Amino acid sequence: MIPQIEKIRNNIPNDVRLIAVSKTMPSETIRMAYDGGIRDFAENKLQEALEKQEQLKDLDDICWHFIGHLQSNKAKKAVESFPWIHSIDSLKIAQRINRLAQEAFSQQTIKNLPQVCLQVKILPDESKYGWNVEQLWQDVEAIKQLDSLRLRGLMAILPLGLSKDETLQAFKDVKSLADELKPHFGSDFDQLSMGMSGDYPLAIEAGATMIRLGTILFGKRSTVALR
Ligand SMILES: *Cc1c(COP(=O)(O)O)cnc(C)c1O
Repeated sequence: MIPQIEKIRNNIPNDVRLIAVSKTMPSETIRMAYDGGIRDFAENKLQEALEKQEQLKDLDDICWHFIGHLQSNKAKKAVESFPWIHSIDSLKIAQRINRLAQEAFSQQTIKNLPQVCLQVKILPDESKYGWNVEQLWQDVEAIKQLDSLRLRGLMAILPLGLSKDETLQAFKDVKSLADELKPHFGSDFDQLSMGMSGDYPLAIEAGATMIRLGTILFGKRSTVALR
């Protein structure tokens, strides 16, 4: 039993998608969350994720989300194993994923083209991957050419140490940016993947459509397992 699931579900709007971040958690824990009604799970390390997917393949209505930095040599596996990739963090990886998705789709290795979010740094953050706002605008035209990606929206992780007001403002800025980008990327560009255990109520207030929760569902991750 994971009692927090029901509590959180009851306290967020119905149309906000609750994604359980199961990185470092064993597949038994994922099964418990599944039994509690969760169907969306997110992982950030490819090899670890593939092992768990294998152990959980009987749960065939799980939707897997990739949320980690993708190295180019792992992109093919990611395309084959994750219907959602939230962490497209550069034009180079976007182009690579696009080409791999096109191949996998034409060879019928995947039934649907991947749904992706563009990872954006709304505030400067040396420690994270992603586009800064100016770079993202520079790449808009090139991103629009990638017709084997289903561009669904933006993903954001905020820097550590922001006040509550700064956090809310930053999430609102992500929402505004997404609204400005939508005419360029089309009406499917309607998702905002933002909000983690420490800040998800503010993210929802600013318009998040997908929240990614780890600690608050599963407890603290041991640093040993974090790698
Ligand atoms: C680990 C992780 C989360 C979940 O963080 P918590 O604070 O444990 O809820 C969300 N998003 C990304 C990209 C992560 O790597």
